[in-house]
Amino acid sequence: MAVLVTGGAGYIGSHMVLALLDADFEVVVLDDLSTGFDWLVHPEAALVRGDVADAALVRGIVERYDIEAVVHFAARIVVPESVIDPLGYYHANTAKSRAFLEALIAAGVRQIIFSSTAAVYGMVGCDPVHEDAALAPISPYGRSKLMTEWMLLDAAMAHPLKYVALRYFNVAGADPAGRAGQSTRAATHLIKVAAEAALGKRAGLDIFGTDYPTPDGTCLRDYIHVTDLVAAHLDALRYLRTGGASRVLNCGYGWGYSVREVVDTVKRVSGIDFPVRICPRRVGDPPAIVAGAQCIRSDLGWSPKLADLDVIVAHALSWERQLGERNRM
Ligand code: UDP
Repeated sequence: MAVLVTGGAGYIGSHMVLALLDADFEVVVLDDLSTGFDWLVHPEAALVRGDVADAALVRGIVERYDIEAVVHFAARIVVPESVIDPLGYYHANTAKSRAFLEALIAAGVRQIIFSSTAAVYGMVGCDPVHEDAALAPISPYGRSKLMTEWMLLDAAMAHPLKYVALRYFNVAGADPAGRAGQSTRAATHLIKVAAEAALGKRAGLDIFGTDYPTPDGTCLRDYIHVTDLVAAHLDALRYLRTGGASRVLNCGYGWGYSVREVVDTVKRVSGIDFPVRICPRRVGDPPAIVAGAQCIRSDLGWSPKLADLDVIVAHALSWERQLGERNRM
């Protein structure tokens, strides 16, 4: 079976490619390489450089490789950037997904796994948020993804299409075997930034806000290992292939850590102290967001294997060191 992975040269996409190849799927990557890296794509996968909104290209790929299912990661993903450039985000995430979906349906693809986000919920409390909670995203990023969820919902009612939309919580860590990891330049995500600070790649780390209504005043997030996350996509693929109905599911562990706890963990696991500055809140950050994580386990049979912040941090650090070596070459 051939699977098309959009954004397969990016952080999560490159791990998905590895998981699919490990499970003996044929894999085709469609990526415009705007933020991804061709060297992150395993050579056993076919890499097509191009735009998901290019209908002729998408149709050609589906026909040539006999694509049965699609995993759609390609997107812009930085919440604060979406606040500054909302229309850019609606274009990249919503408009392009609309065109992509249309091309897939026309080409006869019937199974889609979509990268959605916990940002669709908006301001929630410290308790786990479940899939049926009110959807009130507070950033253009969250809204751009929610609109795509809605397009999938409507399209799946009108066409012979089934989908699983996975609402990611905070994805972090790297392939345990060291084959891939978060490689984005000018990264903004906490564990990546902290790993860079620990390894001296940046002067230190800024904590954005210590006056939130959370136990230690810093934001609470549900950090999930990227390998567990891509395993959920494989489970979703198998679920759809065996006739499962469309689903929207949280993808997180069900418990959270504060920014301070993450920073302390990175210091402890690396054995390196690095400077930390307390800064004002960052625009668009909800105080807490933790997954209600039962549905994905019961519906897909997902069973995470790396649900441990120390492990996530150790793998992130190990990749960061490898990346340092690579950039010196
Ligand atoms: N954060 C921080 N300093 C950083 C990066 C992130 O204090 O250098 C905080 C951020 O304000 C948020 C949490 O860490 O409260 C997680 O942010 P991240 O960008 O990793 O993911 P998000 O939850 O925004 O998707």
